[in-house]
Amino acid sequence: MIEFLAQTKRTRLHDPRAGFALAEIESEVRRDPLTGDSARICHFALRAPPAPDLAAIEALSRPGCPFCPERLDALTPRFPEELVPGGRLRRGEATLVPNLFPYDDYSAIAVLCREHVQAMDAMPARLIADGLAVAREFIGLTAGRIDGGAAYGIATWNFMPASGGSQVHPHMQVITTATPGNALARQHAAAEAFRRRTGRVYADALIAAERAGPRWIGERGRVAWLAPFAPAGVLGDALAVVRDRATLLDLDDADIADFAASLVRVLAAFAARGLWSFNLCLLPDAFGAAPRRHWLTARLLPRFHLNPQLHVSDASHMQLLLDERFAMLAPEEVAADLRARFGAP
Ligand SMILES: [Zn+2]
Repeated sequence: MIEFLAQTKRTRLHDPRAGFALAEIESEVRRDPLTGDSARICHFALRAPPAPDLAAIEALSRPGCPFCPERLDALTPRFPEELVPGGRLRRGEATLVPNLFPYDDYSAIAVLCREHVQAMDAMPARLIADGLAVAREFIGLTAGRIDGGAAYGIATWNFMPASGGSQVHPHMQVITTATPGNALARQHAAAEAFRRRTGRVYADALIAAERAGPRWIGERGRVAWLAPFAPAGVLGDALAVVRDRATLLDLDDADIADFAASLVRVLAAFAARGLWSFNLCLLPDAFGAAPRRHWLTARLLPRFHLNPQLHVSDASHMQLLLDERFAMLAPEEVAADLRARFGAP
């Protein structure tokens, strides 16, 4: 039902590292089983990225941070009363405010905690759960306000500078929109075609195909984690599916708690591999979409600098202009490590 297609490429060269002996070097092109998009795996020798100097990052970024408690009320905007009564949403330490630089009609920031810096290997699940809870509340307040066509509620998170996040203080972005982005449009079209062809939800079939296999990471409640067959991250990435749930509004507090608790395990496992920055996106179906078309899917993409001294980014022409994902590690290798740590007590 799901095809895992891969093609091996072979390059022949005289290798200066081995006295110019003739060598054959393999790389691999894989196809995403849903969209058919290609992704490359090459076995580039790369040392683990150096550990971050969190104290230096804090010293540089804390002065003037608009999300720190002493400035949050004065420097962040408030929603109009008719949209969000009280102007902001709060739960635990999380506060949701308008994005001062909105990129959609309903565009918010969920500041997750009072602390300016959190380490990726010790992220409290509670702050993720509270952030998703205020995101869900904001999406609930705005979902009915999108004129005509399908509406989507999307939560994303850029953590630490390598991710492109402009603020170090942990925060998520939340939008309610009729234009959810090209990736989601492609995935929904492919999932709809899969359902017509097979009668099954793609994510359901994917979990069945991957469960207990070499790319399986683990499961908690409705939330199943695996390493995608066609990788998106240069040093690995992960995908989570929330079974039988299509949007953030469908999640109850137990689902959110399971997602948060399992996410912090995966974050800690990536941190143990020397990664300390990431992008996260929760990809929903449209509100009121055909039942059983798509299940809420999270993509977690660790980010890093290939060379921190020279500020060499991990994104290049390959991802940004050729729209081709590029990995230096096989997903099976990444999953084996994450699986061991996911299940650890
Ligand atoms: Zn701060």
